[in-house]
Amino acid sequence: MALTTAVQPTTTTRNRVPVTATAAARTRARRAQRAWDVNVVVAVNAILVVGLWVRHGGLDSLGAPGATFTAIGQLTGLLGTYAVLIELLLMSRIGWLERWIGFDRLTVWHRWGGFSAVTLLVAHAVFITLGYADSAGASVPGQIADFIRHYPDVLMSIVGLALFLAVAVTSVRAARRRVSRETWYSVHLYAYLAVALSFAHQLSVGTDFSNDALARAWWVALYVAVFAAILAWRVGRPLAFNARHRLRIQRVQREADGVVSVYVSGRKLDRIRADAGQFFLWRFLQGTGWTKAHPFSLSGAPNARFLRITVKDLGDDTRRMQRLRPGVRVFAEGPYGTFTATRRTTSKVVLIGGGIGITPLRALLQTLPDKPGDVMLLYRAATEGDIAFRSELEVFARRGVDVRLLVGTEIGDDETDQLGVPALRRLVPDITTRDVYLCGPPPMLNAVLRRLVALRVPPSRIHYERFEY
Ligand SMILES: Cc1cc2nc3c(=O)[nH]c(=O)nc-3n(C[C@H](O)[C@H](O)[C@H](O)COP(=O)(O)OP(=O)(O)OC[C@H]3O[C@@H](n4cnc5c(N)ncnc54)[C@H](O)[C@@H]3O)c2cc1C
Repeated sequence: MALTTAVQPTTTTRNRVPVTATAAARTRARRAQRAWDVNVVVAVNAILVVGLWVRHGGLDSLGAPGATFTAIGQLTGLLGTYAVLIELLLMSRIGWLERWIGFDRLTVWHRWGGFSAVTLLVAHAVFITLGYADSAGASVPGQIADFIRHYPDVLMSIVGLALFLAVAVTSVRAARRRVSRETWYSVHLYAYLAVALSFAHQLSVGTDFSNDALARAWWVALYVAVFAAILAWRVGRPLAFNARHRLRIQRVQREADGVVSVYVSGRKLDRIRADAGQFFLWRFLQGTGWTKAHPFSLSGAPNARFLRITVKDLGDDTRRMQRLRPGVRVFAEGPYGTFTATRRTTSKVVLIGGGIGITPLRALLQTLPDKPGDVMLLYRAATEGDIAFRSELEVFARRGVDVRLLVGTEIGDDETDQLGVPALRRLVPDITTRDVYLCGPPPMLNAVLRRLVALRVPPSRIHYERFEY
Protein backbone atom coordinates (compact mmCIF):
# COMPACT_ATOMS: atom_id res chain seq x y z
CA MET A 1 0.00 0.00 0.00
CA ALA A 2 2.75 2.45 0.96
CA LEU A 3 4.57 1.72 -2.29
CA THR A 4 1.54 2.53 -4.36
CA THR A 5 1.24 5.81 -2.46
CA ALA A 6 4.79 6.66 -3.47
CA VAL A 7 3.95 6.17 -7.14
CA GLN A 8 0.76 8.20 -6.93
CA PRO A 9 1.27 11.09 -4.49
CA THR A 10 -2.09 12.48 -3.47
CA THR A 11 -0.78 16.05 -3.65
CA THR A 12 -0.46 17.51 -7.11
CA THR A 13 2.98 18.86 -7.98
CA ARG A 14 4.36 20.31 -11.16
CA ASN A 15 6.38 17.10 -11.49
CA ARG A 16 3.20 15.08 -12.03
CA VAL A 17 2.59 16.93 -15.27
CA PRO A 18 4.20 14.92 -18.09
CA VAL A 19 6.94 16.90 -19.84
CA THR A 20 6.05 16.94 -23.53
CA ALA A 21 8.67 17.02 -26.27
CA THR A 22 7.63 20.65 -27.10
CA ALA A 23 8.05 21.83 -23.51
CA ALA A 24 11.40 20.08 -23.40
CA ALA A 25 12.48 21.91 -26.60
CA ARG A 26 11.54 25.29 -25.04
CA THR A 27 13.63 24.54 -21.95
CA ARG A 28 16.61 23.55 -24.12
CA ALA A 29 16.32 26.83 -26.09
CA ARG A 30 16.42 28.85 -22.84
CA ARG A 31 19.50 26.91 -21.74
CA ALA A 32 21.22 27.52 -25.08
CA GLN A 33 20.67 31.28 -24.63
CA ARG A 34 22.32 31.16 -21.22
CA ALA A 35 25.17 29.10 -22.65
CA TRP A 36 25.76 31.84 -25.15
CA ASP A 37 25.76 34.51 -22.41
CA VAL A 38 28.30 32.57 -20.34
CA ASN A 39 30.57 31.94 -23.32
CA VAL A 40 30.53 35.65 -24.17
CA VAL A 41 31.54 36.67 -20.63
CA VAL A 42 34.37 34.09 -20.52
CA ALA A 43 35.66 35.06 -24.00
CA VAL A 44 35.50 38.83 -23.33
CA ASN A 45 37.52 38.45 -20.14
CA ALA A 46 40.05 36.18 -21.89
CA ILE A 47 40.50 38.86 -24.57
CA LEU A 48 40.93 41.46 -21.82
CA VAL A 49 43.64 39.30 -20.22
CA VAL A 50 45.61 39.06 -23.47
CA GLY A 51 44.92 42.76 -24.19
CA LEU A 52 46.35 43.68 -20.80
CA TRP A 53 49.56 41.82 -21.61
CA VAL A 54 49.82 43.55 -25.03
CA ARG A 55 49.10 46.95 -23.46
CA HIS A 56 51.94 46.51 -21.01
CA GLY A 57 54.41 45.76 -23.79
CA GLY A 58 54.16 41.95 -24.00
CA LEU A 59 54.45 41.86 -27.79
CA ASP A 60 57.22 44.50 -27.90
CA SER A 61 59.34 42.40 -25.52
CA LEU A 62 59.55 39.48 -27.94
CA GLY A 63 63.11 39.50 -29.34
CA ALA A 64 66.01 39.03 -26.95
CA PRO A 65 65.83 35.60 -25.21
CA GLY A 66 65.58 36.94 -21.64
CA ALA A 67 62.82 39.44 -22.43
CA THR A 68 61.00 36.87 -24.58
CA PHE A 69 61.02 34.30 -21.76
CA THR A 70 59.75 36.91 -19.32
CA ALA A 71 56.98 38.01 -21.69
CA ILE A 72 55.87 34.40 -22.24
CA GLY A 73 56.04 33.86 -18.48
CA GLN A 74 53.79 36.87 -17.90
CA LEU A 75 51.22 35.74 -20.46
CA THR A 76 51.10 32.15 -19.18
CA GLY A 77 50.81 33.48 -15.61
CA LEU A 78 47.85 35.69 -16.52
CA LEU A 79 46.09 32.97 -18.52
CA GLY A 80 46.87 30.29 -15.91
CA THR A 81 45.41 32.41 -13.11
CA TYR A 82 42.37 33.26 -15.23
CA ALA A 83 41.91 29.51 -15.88
CA VAL A 84 42.10 28.85 -12.11
CA LEU A 85 39.35 31.42 -11.51
CA ILE A 86 37.16 29.77 -14.14
CA GLU A 87 37.89 26.42 -12.50
CA LEU A 88 36.64 27.74 -9.17
CA LEU A 89 33.56 29.13 -10.86
CA LEU A 90 32.80 25.81 -12.58
CA MET A 91 32.77 24.08 -9.20
CA SER A 92 30.94 26.85 -7.32
CA ARG A 93 27.66 24.97 -7.98
CA ILE A 94 25.89 27.97 -9.50
CA GLY A 95 22.40 26.52 -9.95
CA TRP A 96 21.60 27.71 -13.46
CA LEU A 97 25.14 27.02 -14.75
CA GLU A 98 24.88 23.48 -13.41
CA ARG A 99 21.39 23.02 -14.93
CA TRP A 100 22.68 24.14 -18.30
CA ILE A 101 25.94 22.20 -18.45
CA GLY A 102 25.16 19.32 -16.11
CA PHE A 103 27.12 18.20 -13.07
CA ASP A 104 28.91 15.40 -14.96
CA ARG A 105 29.98 17.63 -17.87
CA LEU A 106 31.07 20.37 -15.46
CA THR A 107 33.22 17.78 -13.69
CA VAL A 108 34.86 16.75 -16.98
CA TRP A 109 35.48 20.40 -17.93
CA HIS A 110 36.83 21.05 -14.44
CA ARG A 111 39.18 18.09 -14.77
CA TRP A 112 40.68 19.15 -18.10
CA GLY A 113 40.55 22.86 -17.27
CA GLY A 114 42.43 22.06 -14.06
CA PHE A 115 45.25 20.25 -15.85
CA SER A 116 45.49 23.13 -18.39
CA ALA A 117 45.60 25.73 -15.61
CA VAL A 118 48.39 23.91 -13.74
CA THR A 119 50.36 23.43 -17.00
CA LEU A 120 50.11 27.18 -17.69
CA LEU A 121 51.20 28.02 -14.13
CA VAL A 122 54.19 25.66 -14.32
CA ALA A 123 55.12 27.26 -17.69
CA HIS A 124 54.79 30.66 -16.02
CA ALA A 125 57.22 29.68 -13.24
CA VAL A 126 59.74 28.16 -15.69
CA PHE A 127 59.71 31.04 -18.20
CA ILE A 128 59.78 33.81 -15.59
CA THR A 129 62.74 32.14 -13.86
CA LEU A 130 64.59 31.71 -17.17
CA GLY A 131 63.77 35.28 -18.21
CA TYR A 132 64.86 36.89 -14.93
CA ALA A 133 68.00 34.72 -14.77
CA ASP A 134 68.97 35.71 -18.30
CA SER A 135 68.34 39.42 -17.73
CA ALA A 136 70.31 39.39 -14.45
CA GLY A 137 73.08 37.16 -15.82
CA ALA A 138 72.40 34.70 -12.99
CA SER A 139 72.17 30.90 -12.99
CA VAL A 140 68.72 29.30 -12.66
CA PRO A 141 69.38 28.03 -9.07
CA GLY A 142 70.83 31.45 -8.21
CA GLN A 143 67.71 33.16 -9.55
CA ILE A 144 65.42 30.85 -7.58
CA ALA A 145 67.45 31.57 -4.42
CA ASP A 146 67.09 35.29 -5.14
CA PHE A 147 63.28 34.96 -5.47
CA ILE A 148 63.12 33.11 -2.16
CA ARG A 149 65.45 35.49 -0.26
CA HIS A 150 64.15 38.83 -1.50
CA TYR A 151 60.53 38.36 -2.58
CA PRO A 152 58.33 36.95 0.22
CA ASP A 153 55.23 37.18 -2.00
CA VAL A 154 56.98 35.10 -4.66
CA LEU A 155 57.95 32.54 -2.00
CA MET A 156 54.26 32.24 -1.05
CA SER A 157 53.34 31.75 -4.69
CA ILE A 158 55.96 28.96 -4.99
CA VAL A 159 54.25 27.19 -2.09
CA GLY A 160 50.91 27.84 -3.84
CA LEU A 161 52.23 26.27 -7.05
CA ALA A 162 53.41 23.21 -5.09
CA LEU A 163 49.87 22.83 -3.72
CA PHE A 164 48.35 23.16 -7.21
CA LEU A 165 50.76 20.45 -8.37
CA ALA A 166 49.67 18.19 -5.49
CA VAL A 167 46.03 18.66 -6.56
CA ALA A 168 46.91 17.80 -10.17
CA VAL A 169 49.05 14.77 -9.28
CA THR A 170 46.38 13.24 -7.01
CA SER A 171 43.82 13.76 -9.79
CA VAL A 172 45.75 11.81 -12.44
CA ARG A 173 43.75 8.62 -12.98
CA ALA A 174 46.52 6.22 -11.94
CA ALA A 175 47.05 8.12 -8.67
CA ARG A 176 43.32 8.65 -8.17
CA ARG A 177 42.84 4.88 -8.01
CA ARG A 178 45.46 4.59 -5.26
CA VAL A 179 44.29 7.36 -2.91
CA SER A 180 41.01 7.28 -1.01
CA ARG A 181 38.22 9.64 -1.98
CA GLU A 182 38.68 11.49 1.33
CA THR A 183 42.41 12.10 0.72
CA TRP A 184 41.77 13.24 -2.83
CA TYR A 185 39.03 15.60 -1.66
CA SER A 186 41.11 17.03 1.22
CA VAL A 187 44.06 17.71 -1.10
CA HIS A 188 41.62 19.38 -3.50
CA LEU A 189 40.60 21.83 -0.78
CA TYR A 190 44.23 23.05 -0.69
CA ALA A 191 43.56 24.63 -4.09
CA TYR A 192 41.77 27.45 -2.22
CA LEU A 193 44.88 28.00 -0.07
CA ALA A 194 47.01 27.94 -3.23
CA VAL A 195 44.83 30.65 -4.79
CA ALA A 196 45.21 32.79 -1.67
CA LEU A 197 49.00 32.25 -1.47
CA SER A 198 49.59 33.23 -5.10
CA PHE A 199 47.38 36.32 -5.05
CA ALA A 200 49.77 38.80 -3.39
CA HIS A 201 52.68 38.34 -5.84
CA GLN A 202 50.39 39.10 -8.79
CA LEU A 203 49.75 42.59 -7.46
CA SER A 204 53.16 43.32 -5.94
CA VAL A 205 55.55 42.07 -8.65
CA GLY A 206 53.25 41.47 -11.65
CA THR A 207 54.14 44.21 -14.18
CA ASP A 208 50.56 44.15 -15.43
CA PHE A 209 49.14 45.27 -12.12
CA SER A 210 51.80 46.97 -9.98
CA ASN A 211 51.63 50.24 -11.96
CA ASP A 212 48.14 50.13 -13.43
CA ALA A 213 45.33 50.94 -10.99
CA LEU A 214 42.58 50.18 -13.53
CA ALA A 215 43.99 46.74 -14.39
CA ARG A 216 44.43 46.02 -10.69
CA ALA A 217 40.83 46.98 -9.94
CA TRP A 218 39.52 44.71 -12.75
CA TRP A 219 41.68 41.78 -11.57
CA VAL A 220 40.58 42.18 -7.96
CA ALA A 221 36.95 42.44 -9.17
CA LEU A 222 37.32 39.06 -10.93
CA TYR A 223 38.52 37.46 -7.67
CA VAL A 224 35.74 39.11 -5.67
CA ALA A 225 33.10 37.93 -8.17
CA VAL A 226 34.36 34.33 -8.10
CA PHE A 227 34.59 34.14 -4.31
CA ALA A 228 31.20 35.81 -3.92
CA ALA A 229 29.72 33.12 -6.20
CA ILE A 230 31.39 30.38 -4.14
CA LEU A 231 30.13 31.86 -0.86
CA ALA A 232 26.62 32.39 -2.23
CA TRP A 233 26.17 29.03 -3.92
CA ARG A 234 28.28 26.66 -1.86
CA VAL A 235 27.55 28.13 1.57
CA GLY A 236 24.69 30.66 1.58
CA ARG A 237 22.22 28.80 -0.60
CA PRO A 238 22.51 25.38 1.13
CA LEU A 239 22.21 27.02 4.57
CA ALA A 240 19.11 28.95 3.49
CA PHE A 241 17.61 25.85 1.82
CA ASN A 242 18.02 23.71 4.94
CA ALA A 243 16.84 26.45 7.29
CA ARG A 244 13.69 26.81 5.18
CA HIS A 245 12.87 23.12 4.76
CA ARG A 246 14.14 21.58 8.06
CA LEU A 247 14.50 18.10 6.59
CA ARG A 248 14.18 14.96 8.71
CA ILE A 249 13.96 11.26 7.98
CA GLN A 250 10.32 10.23 7.99
CA ARG A 251 10.86 6.50 7.45
CA VAL A 252 13.29 3.97 6.05
CA GLN A 253 12.08 1.08 3.97
CA ARG A 254 13.87 -1.99 2.61
CA GLU A 255 13.65 -2.27 -1.18
CA ALA A 256 15.98 -5.16 -2.09
CA ASP A 257 19.11 -6.91 -0.79
CA GLY A 258 21.33 -4.14 0.68
CA VAL A 259 19.05 -1.40 -0.64
CA VAL A 260 16.85 0.95 1.42
CA SER A 261 14.61 3.87 0.52
CA VAL A 262 14.89 6.89 2.80
CA TYR A 263 11.79 9.10 2.92
CA VAL A 264 12.66 12.65 3.93
CA SER A 265 9.98 15.07 5.11
CA GLY A 266 10.17 18.75 6.00
CA ARG A 267 8.51 22.13 5.68
CA LYS A 268 7.28 23.71 2.45
CA LEU A 269 8.44 20.79 0.32
CA ASP A 270 6.13 21.95 -2.48
CA ARG A 271 8.44 24.97 -2.91
CA ILE A 272 11.48 22.81 -3.74
CA ARG A 273 12.23 23.33 -7.41
CA ALA A 274 13.56 19.85 -8.09
CA ASP A 275 12.73 17.56 -10.98
CA ALA A 276 12.56 13.81 -11.29
CA GLY A 277 16.00 12.57 -12.40
CA GLN A 278 17.95 15.11 -10.36
CA PHE A 279 20.11 14.41 -7.32
CA PHE A 280 21.09 16.14 -4.09
CA LEU A 281 24.22 15.89 -1.94
CA TRP A 282 23.03 14.40 1.35
CA ARG A 283 24.33 14.47 4.90
CA PHE A 284 22.56 12.51 7.63
CA LEU A 285 23.13 13.88 11.10
CA GLN A 286 23.42 10.45 12.73
CA GLY A 287 26.79 9.37 14.14
CA THR A 288 29.58 10.59 11.87
CA GLY A 289 27.20 10.87 8.88
CA TRP A 290 27.23 14.68 8.88
CA THR A 291 30.95 14.84 8.00
CA LYS A 292 30.59 13.67 4.38
CA ALA A 293 28.10 14.59 1.68
CA HIS A 294 27.11 11.83 -0.74
CA PRO A 295 25.20 12.23 -4.00
CA PHE A 296 21.93 10.30 -4.28
CA SER A 297 19.30 10.73 -6.97
CA LEU A 298 15.66 11.19 -6.10
CA SER A 299 13.99 7.82 -6.61
CA GLY A 300 10.53 9.36 -6.91
CA ALA A 301 9.34 12.68 -8.30
CA PRO A 302 9.38 15.16 -5.40
CA ASN A 303 6.01 15.96 -3.87
CA ALA A 304 4.63 18.09 -1.06
CA ARG A 305 4.99 15.35 1.56
CA PHE A 306 8.41 13.79 1.06
CA LEU A 307 11.57 13.46 -0.97
CA ARG A 308 12.70 9.92 -1.49
CA ILE A 309 16.16 8.52 -2.17
CA THR A 310 17.18 4.88 -2.45
CA VAL A 311 20.63 3.83 -1.26
CA LYS A 312 22.61 0.72 -2.09
CA ASP A 313 25.24 -0.56 0.31
CA LEU A 314 28.41 -0.01 -1.74
CA GLY A 315 30.87 1.15 0.92
CA ASP A 316 31.31 2.23 4.53
CA ASP A 317 28.91 5.18 4.55
CA THR A 318 26.19 3.59 2.43
CA ARG A 319 26.36 0.56 4.76
CA ARG A 320 25.74 2.85 7.75
CA MET A 321 22.85 4.48 5.85
CA GLN A 322 21.04 1.12 5.80
CA ARG A 323 20.56 1.68 9.56
CA LEU A 324 19.27 5.26 9.44
CA ARG A 325 16.45 5.99 11.89
CA PRO A 326 13.29 8.11 11.54
CA GLY A 327 13.63 11.58 13.08
CA VAL A 328 17.30 12.05 12.11
CA ARG A 329 18.06 15.54 10.78
CA VAL A 330 19.10 15.73 7.13
CA PHE A 331 21.19 18.36 5.39
CA ALA A 332 20.69 18.39 1.61
CA GLU A 333 22.34 20.45 -1.09
CA GLY A 334 20.85 20.70 -4.54
CA PRO A 335 19.04 19.90 -6.70
CA TYR A 336 21.70 19.12 -9.28
CA GLY A 337 21.82 17.38 -12.62
CA THR A 338 20.21 17.60 -16.03
CA PHE A 339 19.08 13.99 -16.32
CA THR A 340 15.47 15.10 -16.55
CA ALA A 341 12.51 14.80 -18.89
CA THR A 342 13.38 18.21 -20.38
CA ARG A 343 16.20 16.51 -22.30
CA ARG A 344 13.67 14.61 -24.44
CA THR A 345 13.57 15.30 -28.14
CA THR A 346 10.84 12.82 -29.16
CA SER A 347 7.66 11.34 -27.70
CA LYS A 348 9.04 7.81 -27.46
CA VAL A 349 11.51 6.93 -24.75
CA VAL A 350 13.45 3.90 -23.57
CA LEU A 351 14.96 3.89 -20.09
CA ILE A 352 17.87 1.50 -19.51
CA GLY A 353 18.92 0.94 -15.91
CA GLY A 354 21.48 -1.31 -14.28
CA GLY A 355 21.55 -2.12 -10.55
CA ILE A 356 21.06 0.94 -8.34
CA GLY A 357 21.08 3.05 -11.53
CA ILE A 358 17.33 2.37 -11.55
CA THR A 359 16.74 5.21 -9.02
CA PRO A 360 16.57 8.29 -11.30
CA LEU A 361 14.77 6.23 -13.96
CA ARG A 362 12.13 5.23 -11.44
CA ALA A 363 11.56 8.93 -10.70
CA LEU A 364 11.55 9.82 -14.40
CA LEU A 365 8.73 7.34 -15.04
CA GLN A 366 6.49 9.76 -13.15
CA THR A 367 7.15 12.65 -15.54
CA LEU A 368 6.98 10.78 -18.83
CA PRO A 369 3.70 10.34 -20.72
CA ASP A 370 1.72 7.21 -20.02
CA LYS A 371 0.60 6.51 -23.60
CA PRO A 372 1.00 2.75 -24.12
CA GLY A 373 4.07 1.95 -26.18
CA ASP A 374 5.71 5.35 -25.70
CA VAL A 375 7.73 4.44 -22.62
CA MET A 376 9.83 1.34 -22.21
CA LEU A 377 12.04 0.32 -19.27
CA LEU A 378 14.87 -2.21 -19.49
CA TYR A 379 15.99 -2.89 -15.92
CA ARG A 380 18.94 -5.15 -15.36
CA ALA A 381 19.62 -6.57 -11.90
CA ALA A 382 22.30 -9.09 -10.95
CA THR A 383 19.87 -11.41 -9.13
CA GLU A 384 16.14 -11.59 -8.41
CA GLY A 385 16.87 -10.35 -4.87
CA ASP A 386 18.47 -7.19 -6.29
CA ILE A 387 15.33 -6.00 -8.05
CA ALA A 388 14.10 -2.82 -6.35
CA PHE A 389 10.66 -1.15 -6.68
CA ARG A 390 9.06 -4.35 -7.96
CA SER A 391 5.50 -3.48 -6.94
CA GLU A 392 5.86 0.13 -8.12
CA LEU A 393 7.05 -1.05 -11.53
CA GLU A 394 4.01 -3.31 -11.71
CA VAL A 395 1.82 -0.22 -11.30
CA PHE A 396 3.64 1.51 -14.15
CA ALA A 397 3.33 -1.64 -16.28
CA ARG A 398 -0.44 -1.64 -15.71
CA ARG A 399 -0.52 1.96 -16.93
CA GLY A 400 1.14 1.03 -20.23
CA VAL A 401 4.87 1.26 -19.56
CA ASP A 402 6.62 -1.70 -21.20
CA VAL A 403 8.75 -2.98 -18.30
CA ARG A 404 11.35 -5.69 -18.97
CA LEU A 405 13.32 -7.15 -16.07
CA LEU A 406 16.65 -8.63 -17.16
CA VAL A 407 18.28 -10.72 -14.44
CA GLY A 408 21.97 -11.57 -14.69
CA THR A 409 25.32 -9.87 -14.41
CA GLU A 410 26.99 -7.85 -17.15
CA ILE A 411 29.29 -10.07 -19.23
CA GLY A 412 30.77 -7.23 -21.24
CA ASP A 413 30.39 -8.90 -24.62
CA ASP A 414 28.72 -6.61 -27.17
CA GLU A 415 27.22 -9.56 -29.05
CA THR A 416 25.98 -11.99 -26.41
CA ASP A 417 25.21 -9.76 -23.41
CA GLN A 418 21.57 -9.31 -22.35
CA LEU A 419 22.01 -5.65 -23.28
CA GLY A 420 24.32 -6.38 -26.23
CA VAL A 421 23.73 -5.06 -29.75
CA PRO A 422 21.52 -7.94 -31.03
CA ALA A 423 19.55 -8.01 -27.75
CA LEU A 424 18.88 -4.25 -27.84
CA ARG A 425 17.86 -4.52 -31.49
CA ARG A 426 15.41 -7.30 -30.61
CA LEU A 427 14.03 -5.70 -27.43
CA VAL A 428 13.67 -2.18 -28.86
CA PRO A 429 13.37 -2.47 -32.67
CA ASP A 430 12.67 1.29 -33.01
CA ILE A 431 15.53 2.33 -30.68
CA THR A 432 16.95 4.84 -33.20
CA THR A 433 13.71 6.84 -33.07
CA ARG A 434 13.57 6.98 -29.26
CA ASP A 435 15.28 9.05 -26.61
CA VAL A 436 17.46 6.75 -24.51
CA TYR A 437 17.92 7.45 -20.79
CA LEU A 438 20.72 5.38 -19.32
CA CYS A 439 22.00 4.94 -15.78
CA GLY A 440 24.03 2.19 -14.17
CA PRO A 441 27.43 1.15 -12.84
CA PRO A 442 30.29 2.68 -14.90
CA PRO A 443 31.30 -0.57 -16.74
CA MET A 444 27.71 -1.30 -17.77
CA LEU A 445 27.09 2.34 -18.68
CA ASN A 446 30.20 2.51 -20.88
CA ALA A 447 29.35 -0.79 -22.59
CA VAL A 448 25.76 0.27 -23.36
CA LEU A 449 26.91 3.68 -24.62
CA ARG A 450 29.26 1.89 -27.02
CA ARG A 451 26.43 -0.36 -28.23
CA LEU A 452 24.02 2.57 -28.73
CA VAL A 453 26.62 4.16 -31.01
CA ALA A 454 26.91 0.84 -32.89
CA LEU A 455 23.12 0.84 -33.27
CA ARG A 456 23.36 4.40 -34.70
CA VAL A 457 21.22 6.05 -32.03
CA PRO A 458 21.79 9.80 -32.61
CA PRO A 459 24.03 11.25 -29.83
CA SER A 460 21.47 14.02 -29.18
CA ARG A 461 18.99 11.32 -28.09
CA ILE A 462 21.32 9.60 -25.63
CA HIS A 463 21.07 10.93 -22.05
CA TYR A 464 22.95 9.30 -19.20
CA GLU A 465 23.79 9.77 -15.53
CA ARG A 466 27.12 8.49 -14.26
CA PHE A 467 27.13 7.43 -10.60
CA GLU A 468 30.72 8.53 -10.03
CA TYR A 469 32.79 11.69 -10.26
C1 LIG B 1 25.07 11.84 -9.48
C2 LIG B 1 25.12 10.61 -8.60
C3 LIG B 1 23.93 10.03 -8.19
C4 LIG B 1 23.96 8.88 -7.40
N1 LIG B 1 22.77 8.32 -7.01
C5 LIG B 1 22.79 7.21 -6.26
C6 LIG B 1 21.56 6.60 -5.83
O1 LIG B 1 20.46 7.06 -6.15
N2 LIG B 1 21.65 5.51 -5.05
C7 LIG B 1 22.85 4.95 -4.67
O2 LIG B 1 22.86 3.96 -3.93
N3 LIG B 1 24.03 5.51 -5.08
C8 LIG B 1 24.02 6.61 -5.84
N4 LIG B 1 25.21 7.18 -6.22
C9 LIG B 1 26.48 6.56 -5.78
C10 LIG B 1 26.75 6.93 -4.33
O3 LIG B 1 26.94 8.33 -4.22
C11 LIG B 1 28.01 6.22 -3.82
O4 LIG B 1 27.77 4.84 -3.89
C12 LIG B 1 28.26 6.56 -2.37
O5 LIG B 1 28.63 7.92 -2.27
C13 LIG B 1 29.35 5.65 -1.83
O6 LIG B 1 29.74 6.06 -0.55
P1 LIG B 1 30.46 5.05 0.48
O7 LIG B 1 31.23 5.88 1.44
O8 LIG B 1 29.48 4.11 1.03
O9 LIG B 1 31.40 4.19 -0.44
P2 LIG B 1 32.95 4.25 -0.72
O10 LIG B 1 33.56 3.02 -0.17
O11 LIG B 1 33.52 5.56 -0.31
O12 LIG B 1 32.93 4.20 -2.31
C14 LIG B 1 32.21 3.23 -3.06
C15 LIG B 1 32.11 3.77 -4.48
O13 LIG B 1 31.38 5.01 -4.51
C16 LIG B 1 32.18 6.08 -5.00
N5 LIG B 1 31.97 7.27 -4.13
C17 LIG B 1 32.25 7.39 -2.82
N6 LIG B 1 31.92 8.58 -2.33
C18 LIG B 1 31.41 9.25 -3.38
C19 LIG B 1 30.88 10.55 -3.53
N7 LIG B 1 30.80 11.43 -2.51
N8 LIG B 1 30.49 10.92 -4.74
C20 LIG B 1 30.54 10.06 -5.78
N9 LIG B 1 31.01 8.82 -5.71
C21 LIG B 1 31.44 8.42 -4.53
C22 LIG B 1 33.61 5.63 -4.88
O14 LIG B 1 34.42 6.23 -5.88
C23 LIG B 1 33.47 4.12 -5.09
O15 LIG B 1 33.41 3.80 -6.47
C24 LIG B 1 25.20 8.32 -7.01
C25 LIG B 1 26.39 8.92 -7.41
C26 LIG B 1 26.36 10.05 -8.20
C27 LIG B 1 27.64 10.68 -8.64
